[in-house]
Amino acid sequence: MTEKMTHIERVLASLGDQPVDRLTVYPIACGVSRRTIGDGTMLYKDWCSDPKNYAQGLISGQKYFDLDLTVGLMDLSVIAGDFGSHVRMDEQNTPFVDDPVIKGPEDYEKLQAPDINKGRSGVILEGTKIFADALKNETITSGFLEGPLLALTQSASAEKVFMDMYNNRSAVHKALGTFTEYLRDMVKGMGQSKPAACMWDYLWASYSCLGDNEYDEFEGQYKYAGGLNELVGKEGMALAIHNCADLPHLDTQIKAMKPAAYTMAYYPLIPGSPSASEVIGKGYADNCVVCGNIDPQGYVRWSQEKMQKTTMNLCQEVKTALCARGLKSKYCIASGCEVPPSVTTRLENIKTMVDTVKQYGQVTC
Ligand SMILES: [Zn+2]
Repeated sequence: MTEKMTHIERVLASLGDQPVDRLTVYPIACGVSRRTIGDGTMLYKDWCSDPKNYAQGLISGQKYFDLDLTVGLMDLSVIAGDFGSHVRMDEQNTPFVDDPVIKGPEDYEKLQAPDINKGRSGVILEGTKIFADALKNETITSGFLEGPLLALTQSASAEKVFMDMYNNRSAVHKALGTFTEYLRDMVKGMGQSKPAACMWDYLWASYSCLGDNEYDEFEGQYKYAGGLNELVGKEGMALAIHNCADLPHLDTQIKAMKPAAYTMAYYPLIPGSPSASEVIGKGYADNCVVCGNIDPQGYVRWSQEKMQKTTMNLCQEVKTALCARGLKSKYCIASGCEVPPSVTTRLENIKTMVDTVKQYGQVTC
């Protein structure tokens, strides 16, 4: 089928709630995109440790799947690793921290920020520059950074940090201050790489972990995150936020932080987890493109028929909710979190999702 709008035209129209030829679509296909390069055998560890490989995967994936957006999500052990945690790096699995740098309360205050141009921080900055430049006339691009509280929990373990929020409060704040300073440098570096947007992973704004007061104190719009969000704008990038928690703080992260785009998940088995129609119906998409919420495991486990049916149902739910709210296009059909970068992910399911939105994503109120 012939598309009437380019990717960039469609995303810009959606940001302004203008009519679109179809809804925007973005399976968060990042690490898995390496499998669209050449013979498809590039290892995850080679993709995530070399800026050219990282960029090449994202560029190749955009073309292969015909994506409206490109986000430079790597994995959540980048910052912890560069700060001195040991990262277990298997050939094909998502790397993870197996020996955190923070072991006891005294370690919070000893953290030393690394050189942002070295390690995987440097891979991200250099690689983002390559893919943002290569795709600047194709799609809307976004860099991706872990927020300060996520960087801290990855460097210490979440259980430890949540206990130390009460037992060693000032030490936790000292560490968050150190991560925030490093992230300010990363945002400035990201600004030099020139993606259109910068996306934060602010995972811990989740009512299953933290209440409003705790989130406000330890990350929040009026604490560490607020200054970082402001800096993203000053550096010429649009603000985007990813939070795949089950019970996200939508009032803080959408209404107070005011991102241009917000990507979220949906957990149908968890009472209170907000569905796409609830999020739209309660006004969260009025001034923000909400992106969600197909189960990432579906790209591994489902048949193409099930992926098609699930995507069709989500398109229908979203279109009905947008029309009821008087909106035209402020939702992006997306996965709830990253499509698993594993070798068992079915690339044809990613294609099927994109093709289904092309076929059934027209909004006619
Ligand atoms: Zn996620």
